[in-house]
Parts: sequence; C-alpha cells; structure tokens
Amino acid sequence: MVFDSIGDRDHEQVSHFTDPETGLQAIVAIHDTTLGPSLGGTRMLDYETEQHALEDVLRLSQAMTYKAAAADLPLGGGKAVILGNPDDLKSEALFEAYGRAVDCLGGRYITSVDVNSGVADMDVIARETDHVVGTSNGLGDPSPITAHGVYHGVRACTESVYGTESTSGREVLIQGLGKVGRSLAEELLADGASVTVTDIDENAVDAFAREHDVETIPSDAVFDQSCDIFAPCAVGGVINDETIPQLDCDIVAGGANNILAERRHATALRDRGILYAPDYVINGGGLITVAKEYLGGTREEAYEEAAAIGDRLLEMIELAEERETTVLEAADAYAREQIEAAERTTPAVPTQL
Ligand code: NAD
Repeated sequence: MVFDSIGDRDHEQVSHFTDPETGLQAIVAIHDTTLGPSLGGTRMLDYETEQHALEDVLRLSQAMTYKAAAADLPLGGGKAVILGNPDDLKSEALFEAYGRAVDCLGGRYITSVDVNSGVADMDVIARETDHVVGTSNGLGDPSPITAHGVYHGVRACTESVYGTESTSGREVLIQGLGKVGRSLAEELLADGASVTVTDIDENAVDAFAREHDVETIPSDAVFDQSCDIFAPCAVGGVINDETIPQLDCDIVAGGANNILAERRHATALRDRGILYAPDYVINGGGLITVAKEYLGGTREEAYEEAAAIGDRLLEMIELAEERETTVLEAADAYAREQIEAAERTTPAVPTQL
C-alpha cells in the first residue's frame, strides 16, 4: 500500500512508529535528501483513515523538498503526522516517545511545529533528540520573517507588472490579519502602499485599524473588492473556480499555504492576465528561519535571506515569460534544477571504499 501511494513521487523513506503505552502512531516521510537533511513539521490530526494520513504526509513532504530547494537551502523535504485527536491523545509521554522515533532516524529528518503541534511540544521532543527546531530556545516566531519575504516577493511582482518595485500608492488587499498578515501590512504601509485589511475576527480588524492607516472590509466581501495586489494570508484554497472570475487585481501574492485549490488554477490566473507568486516560494521565510536555527545563524541573517526571495522570484517570473509558462511551473523547474545540480556532485547513496 505504501509503495502504491508513493507512486511517482519517489520518496526515499517512509517510516511508521508506534508506542502502545502512549498510543503513539506516527508516520515520518522523507522525500528527498539530495540537498541536505529533510526538514518539515509534525502535524497531529484525527485522520479519517490511515490511508488519509499516509497521503497527507507523502504530499506534504514532497512539497517541502520544493520549498527548501526554491529557498536555496541546503535541506531536503520531510514531514511527519501523528494520528489521533490531540484533545484525547496529546501528552508529554507521547511526544517523548515521538522524539525517540525522530532520533532514531539519525538526523535524516528534522522536525518542527505544524498543525496541532507547538513550541511546548518541540521542547518535549528536544528532551529526546537534537533533530528538532522551533523550540523555546530557538530563533523565535518566524512569522515576521515570513512576512518580510512576502513583502519582497510582492515588490518583485510590482517590478514585473508596473516596472517599479516600490509599492507606494498601490492598493493592496490583505486577507487575514494574523501573525503574517499583520507584519506584512506594516511593511507595506511603511513603503507607502494603500492597504485594505479583512479578517473573520472583526475585533482584530478594528484594533488594527485604530492603530494604522488602513481601510477595512467585511471578510465575505473580499472578492467584491478591486485592488492592484491581493495578498491571501489566512487559509488555503482561496483561489478556485468560483473566485478566479471574480478577481479584479493584477497580482496574487500572499503568505498563506496552498493558496490555489488546484495546480491548474495557476494557468487559469495566467489566462486572466493575473501574475501569481507561488506560495511556497514567497512564504519561504518561515522555513529559512527554522533552517537557520538548525544550521546555526541569527535572526538578522534570516531576515536578509528572506529578503532575497524577491530577486529569486523575479528570476522565476522572467523564466516563466521566456518559457511561456506559469511562474509555478518555473518555480518547480528552478527547484528541480537545484536538486539535479547537487545530484551531479553528490552520489545518491554514499560509495564505500
Ligand atoms: P494566524 O493563525 O496567526 O492568522 C490567520 C488569520 O486568518 C487569523 O487572524 C484568522 O482569523 C484569519 N482568517 C481565517 N480564515 C479567514 C477567512 N476566511 N477570511 C479572512 N481571515 C481569515 O496564521 P499565520 O501564522 O499568520 O499564517 C497565515 C497563513 O500563512 C497560513 O496559511 C499559514 O499556513 C501560512 N504560513 C505561515 C508562516 C508563518 O511563519 N507563520 C509561514 C509559512 C506559511
């Protein structure tokens, strides 16, 4: 079943772990370690079936390979899932057992926070293994650095569309005023952009609007609003068959993961003349931060590397224009080229003398 599910994704290793005493059932998927050890968060969810959990971890770990390669990081792609309802199952003993599971992979997989696993859980895992990032001793919340990368990605898009990287006077609509959306709004305002914000949490919107010079709109009016740049910073799947015809903007570039409901929506946006900055490229600042934590470095260095997302994205946009394809295709090609270039110098399996 595992080999069938892997299909043509070519995972290097998929490991299942159990610990009857704590109820731990976990799957760690290592997709590709050509560029370095695999890194990706641990998601804890009450999956409908074991097959759903397997599909999720295989898909997410493959995406991490592309995300790391597109950020020019010396890391591969991995991800883990713990099966079960966190409300019933979460315990320190379970995360300690899980930490031992991660440790036995010998550093081929480095874990971090994800859905239903936070800093406190990483601290527990760190009692058992060094191969964990996002602990309370780490580099701190990556969200402002993620936002900094998104900001530079937005500037690359304005450079491509309007011929200037300044966002001054541009109308930007930010969906989601959470940790990323808030920091992004502040950076754009400082650059002179005209910012409109929305969130399902109306109190958060009102509080932000009292402190900043922004317009606000109700969260259900987001696709009625025209703007230059639409920046989804809330949830995935917001660009889909229903919303694409409603969009009245030149650029879609935001921090949310899985902005497109399906890959084909990148083509649909291009057909409408809308530039789409691939989410995994533009929101790479979070991964850059945790990679810094593992490989050694400072928060300031992470900010600098996140800023470089702008130039890299511009390269991808130009590549897409040259090849008459979507920026998503160009980003995938860029990531694959990084991996293939490394393969030419590093044997896939170490040679023995
Ligand atoms: P967050 O939970 O702090 O903020 C999300 C915000 O979106 C919340 O304020 C929530 O009320 C709002 N929201 C939810 N549904 C909405 C809707 N339908 N319309 C409007 N607002 C809605 O999360 P975050 O850390 O800011 O992350 C935002 C997105 O960026 C997520 O998709 C996350 O996966 C992605 N991301 C975050 C990071 C990071 O460093 N935090 C890194 C990479 C990607």
